[in-house]
Amino acid sequence: MTGCNELKKGDVITCEDCGLELTVTKACDCSTGEGSCSAEGFSCCGDEMKKK
Ligand SMILES: [Zn+2]
Repeated sequence: MTGCNELKKGDVITCEDCGLELTVTKACDCSTGEGSCSAEGFSCCGDEMKKK
């Protein structure tokens, strides 16, 4: 599960199904367990997006 707290500027997360890629242009200061994004991760096509 890739939460926003794990993503740093320049990281890329991708959807293995459709090929969508997202690049982090600004990191956040969320810590583990805070915020819905760290609990749910990022999803596309019904699946978790993976860090490249
Ligand atoms: Zn997708």
